[in-house]
Amino acid sequence: MVEFALIGNPVSHSRSVEYFNQKFISEGIDAYYFAQAIEDLSNLPIFLCNHPALVGFNVTSPYKQSILRYVHSYTEEVEFTQAANMVVVERRGKKEPLLTAHNTDVWGFLYSIKPHLKPHHTKALVLGSGGAARAVSRAFKMMNIDDRMVSRTPCTADALSYSDLTSDLLEQYSIVVNATPVGMGEMEHLCLPLPYEALTPDHLCYDLIYAPQETLFLKKAQSFGATTMNGFSMLIAQAEENWNVWKHLV
Ligand code: NAP
Repeated sequence: MVEFALIGNPVSHSRSVEYFNQKFISEGIDAYYFAQAIEDLSNLPIFLCNHPALVGFNVTSPYKQSILRYVHSYTEEVEFTQAANMVVVERRGKKEPLLTAHNTDVWGFLYSIKPHLKPHHTKALVLGSGGAARAVSRAFKMMNIDDRMVSRTPCTADALSYSDLTSDLLEQYSIVVNATPVGMGEMEHLCLPLPYEALTPDHLCYDLIYAPQETLFLKKAQSFGATTMNGFSMLIAQAEENWNVWKHLV
């Protein structure tokens, strides 16, 4: 039996274990998926050694960026985002395994938003500048949608700060994506400062958060008639994309 895993810290909130093990059962695949909290990523070689049947693993917070120090190669999406959420482990007998990093968040976002795009959706604001925001930005570039990141501390010429987000600007950008953790966990009662009253039924507002299902950002956007969606379809689409790579390993 081959093994797959999720590493991060914490990992208890993840839905991946249930998702993949159900998939293995329903498709009659002899494989097992487990979650492993790792306190320090420098323990990764020991983890790989202790699990010789492991052929792939997902990576979650806080290791999506630091995992790159441990891999031997990575895809174009990883190069652009400087973050990975999935690694293929190639076993080579007694030699250390060869690790290749992927970023399936890019594809998860692209596949999930595509069916909702209309011809007027040509410009997008991406709130946040972390790994998820860079995955979203990469997906927009692949779809020829002009995107701009919004950050509390903009550090590229193209990035905006929240104080730049006027009603006039929001009129030009008909897609707004929340790629920050604002709206979940301890920040569940919060949303980012936008001129929400400038949103219209032409706007598509997407929150990468899926728990809660409807964040304050989405509630406010909906109250001004915008179309809204949460991150659940992205979660499923990125897991499917993982599987498209992993199915060749079982
Ligand atoms: P992250 O690195 O922790 O944070 C992303 C960015 O959010 C930060 O770089 C920061 O940008 C901004 N931010 C953080 N705290 C903030 C605050 N209090 N106020 C304003 N901005 C704040 O997270 P991530 O890994 O990129 O993930 C972002 C979100 O996407 C999370 O909620 C995660 O759960 C979700 N996600 C969902 C999926 C899915 O499949 N649906 C996949 C990946 C991620 P600045 O410092 O530049 O402002």
